Amino acid sequence: MAGEQLIGVLGLQGDYCAHGRMLEEAGARAQVVKKTAQLRRVQGLVIPGGESTALIKLMDAGDWWESLRDFAGTGKPILGTCAGMILLAREVLNPPQKSLGLIDATVERNSYGRQQESFEGMGTFGRGRRERPLPMVFIRAPRICRLGPRVKALAFCRGDCVLARQGPILVASFHPELTADLTVHRYFLGMVG
Ligand code: GLN
Repeated sequence: MAGEQLIGVLGLQGDYCAHGRMLEEAGARAQVVKKTAQLRRVQGLVIPGGESTALIKLMDAGDWWESLRDFAGTGKPILGTCAGMILLAREVLNPPQKSLGLIDATVERNSYGRQQESFEGMGTFGRGRRERPLPMVFIRAPRICRLGPRVKALAFCRGDCVLARQGPILVASFHPELTADLTVHRYFLGMVG
């Protein structure tokens, strides 16, 4: 039952509280994760937006790289939004920086230009007859500029793929936790099963 799912939200930096609220509205229990040992208890993990360079420094200071790779190795789902997506991508541009490389995608940081550094837009989720509008908030957002052949594009905005999945890894270039729409969090809970 969805009510029994315990989902961790990485609480090193960024807007992790909003993710917790969305997960609980979608029927799960949320637990802020500040220590690697807490990863053992959760069935899925959200890596929130924030500043990826700051996150990298905080991760370097602990044993986060190994612990997050081990977590992914068990097949438990991870949702990365914005800076979280940057951390999960195989390749990061503008400038290149290290990442977990858990999804076969290339992302370009701060890619939407000065005028649009932050904007709200209406995108689409799903394809064909199932396509429906999805509100999206972009904050100094990264752009997905390459998807590997095993990565599925799930949502689009202004011609770009903005939500993508490879197996248990789900990434969004926008902030689904800053809208009232639970689509992305519900989809993620469906992956957690
Ligand atoms: N610009 C940030 C970065 O490059 C990401 C912004 C965000 O997470 N909202 O890390």
